[in-house]
Amino acid sequence: MDSLKAYYEELGVDGKVYDYAQKVEHGLKTRFEKMDEIAQINQLKVLRAMQKNKVAEAHLSGTTGYGYNDIGREAIEGVYADVFGTEDALVRPQITCGTHALGLAMGAVLRPGDEILAISGKPYDTLEEVIGIREAKGSLAEYGITYAQVDLLEDGEFDYDGIQKAAGSRTKLIHIQRSKGYASRKTLSVEQIGKVISFLRTLNPNWIIMVDNCYGEFVEELEPSDVGADMTVGSLIKNPGGGLAPIGGYICGRKDLIELCAYRLTTPGLGKEVGATLGTNRLLLQGIFMAPVVVNAALKGAVFAANLYEKLGFTVIPNGTESRHDIIQAVELEDPKKLIAFCEGIQKASPVDSYVTPEPWAMPGYDSDVIMAAGTFVSGSSIELSADGPMKEPYAVYFQGGLTYPHAKYGIVMSLQRMIEKDLIDFQ
Ligand SMILES: *Cc1c(COP(=O)(O)O)cnc(C)c1O
Repeated sequence: MDSLKAYYEELGVDGKVYDYAQKVEHGLKTRFEKMDEIAQINQLKVLRAMQKNKVAEAHLSGTTGYGYNDIGREAIEGVYADVFGTEDALVRPQITCGTHALGLAMGAVLRPGDEILAISGKPYDTLEEVIGIREAKGSLAEYGITYAQVDLLEDGEFDYDGIQKAAGSRTKLIHIQRSKGYASRKTLSVEQIGKVISFLRTLNPNWIIMVDNCYGEFVEELEPSDVGADMTVGSLIKNPGGGLAPIGGYICGRKDLIELCAYRLTTPGLGKEVGATLGTNRLLLQGIFMAPVVVNAALKGAVFAANLYEKLGFTVIPNGTESRHDIIQAVELEDPKKLIAFCEGIQKASPVDSYVTPEPWAMPGYDSDVIMAAGTFVSGSSIELSADGPMKEPYAVYFQGGLTYPHAKYGIVMSLQRMIEKDLIDFQ
C-alpha cells in the first residue's frame, strides 16, 4: 500500500499522474542532494550571524512610537550585515517592498547631474517609474538624474565593450539585476556578477555598484555582496523573509551608503535611530533563520516542475538540468487554456483560498490581461507558492515559491492534473 499515493488520490490527483510525478522526482535525487548542501551552508551562515550578534529573547519583541533603542532592530541589522558580509545594513518594516528598497537606495546616494548606468538591460518593470524611464511624477529624472542602459549580450553575458562606451563622467551608480524578472534573458550567477564588478573597478573604483538581489538570496553559497557589490537590495516578502516576515525590505552594504539610505528613509539627522518595529522583530529574525530551507524548498519545486513539464514536451526556462541562480521557473504553455488550467491547479493546492478560481484580468502597467494564482499567508508574498502569466504568446506561466517542498510538489502536480482534467494535454 502506497500511503502517499492514497493521500494524493484523495486530494484529486489520478494514480497515473502521481506515478509519473514520482518517477520525475526519483530522477532528481543527486540534484536535490547538492541543493541540500547549499542549504546547510546557508543555514550555518545565518546561525553564525545570529550567534555573533548574540540574538536574545529580549530582541524578539518590538518598540512603538519613535522606536529609539530598539535592540531587536539593531540585532536584525547586525545579522543581515553579517549574513551578507557587509559593513552595515538597513532592514526595516518601514521599507514597504522591493521596489521601495531599490528606489530608496538609488534616491539616497544619487544627486542632481548624476547618471545611473544599468548594465543588465532594462530594470524590473516597477523601477521604470522610479527612475523615470517611463515618465512619472517624483521620479529620479525629475531631480535631474539621468539614465543609460547597456543590454546583456545574446548569450546572457555582460557587454564589456558596451559598458565601457556607455560610461561617462556623470556615471555614478551601476545597476545590476541578478534575476531575470519577467524578461526572457538568463538569470545572472554571482560568479558573473563578481567578474563584471572587478572589471567595473578597473574603469572607475568610485562608482557605486548596486545589485537588485530579489529572488536570488540563499540560492547560491555567495551573495553579490560577497563579490564586491556596494549595495545589495531586496524584499522581505521574497527569499530572506522566509515566508514569515509580514513586510519589509533590506539594503546591505558600505557603511557610508547605508547611512545615506537611513537619512533618506527617515530624515537627515535621525537616520537609523528611529523607526519602531511594532512587533515585527521576531518574524524578521525567525524568517531569516528559516530562509535557507524555505529557499531550498522553492528551488526543489522549480527544478521538479522544469523536469515534469520538459519531459512532456514544453519549453521550460531554465531547463531541467541548468544550474540555478534564482527561484523563478517559466513554462511556455503555448495555449491560453493551458495557462488558465495551470493557475487553477496551483490555486486549488493552496493552504489559503483553495476554493477560489483565478481569472485573467487587466492589470495596470501590463499590455495584456494577466492571470495570477496565489493562496498565501502574507498577501502578495512570492516566496509562497504562486504563479502568474500574461495572456499572450507564448502563454508562459512564471511561478515561484513554496514554503515547503511537499506543498510545492503537490501544487505543481495539481497544475498538470488540471490540464489533464480539462482535456488539454495528451497524457498516458
Ligand atoms: C519582485 C522584484 C522587484 C520588486 O519587488 P516588489 O517587492 O514587488 O516591489 C524588483 N526586482 C526584481 C528582480 C524582482 O523580482
